[in-house]
Amino acid sequence: MALTIISHPLAAHALTRLRDKTTQPALFRTLCHQITLLLALEATRDLATEETTVETPLETTEGRVLARPLVIVPVLRAGLGMVEPFLELFPDVSVGYIGLERDHATAIARSYYCKLPPLKGRRILVIDPMLATGGSAAQALDVVRSASATDVALVCIVAAPEGVALIEQRHPGLPVFTAALDRELNASKYILPGLGDFGDRLNGT
Ligand code: URA
Repeated sequence: MALTIISHPLAAHALTRLRDKTTQPALFRTLCHQITLLLALEATRDLATEETTVETPLETTEGRVLARPLVIVPVLRAGLGMVEPFLELFPDVSVGYIGLERDHATAIARSYYCKLPPLKGRRILVIDPMLATGGSAAQALDVVRSASATDVALVCIVAAPEGVALIEQRHPGLPVFTAALDRELNASKYILPGLGDFGDRLNGT
């Protein structure tokens, strides 16, 4: 599978602070923003560009601009915490939403919302911070692929081997970008060592 674990001192720093159980929601949001910026840069490294000319104050020169607008699809609700950094880097980005809620007893995701922009011919990044069992990410990827998306990648902050394996099984070869590949899931399907419930920590719930 095309798994990329980003390597940057700032990513390592932000991840450690995100893991820290004493980190409060305000700092958690800032760290989430920082680490997502780094993930976004890595996940868009090969975006298509096209030639153009530009008038500098002195002369005309050649340059390159993004060929097509990017689409991001955060998986609600935790994925919302990763939207703003993408908007900062790519102001023209289109944003789709897929609402999946994990049943804490069964750990199975239930879909309650889906609103997507046109996907055909565009680079789609599904964003979901915690790739645990992989069930919700795989389901979100099913949804975007059945809406004609062909150029799709998954961006998360922490991944578990179980989640990575499920994505490889259900979506072979799909690029996955993460800041960490953790050890395992516990009996409640939380990632170990992980950082706890991302949505709860982000929202202070
Ligand atoms: N979702 C989270 O927020 N944390 C986990 O560890 C697993 C799934």
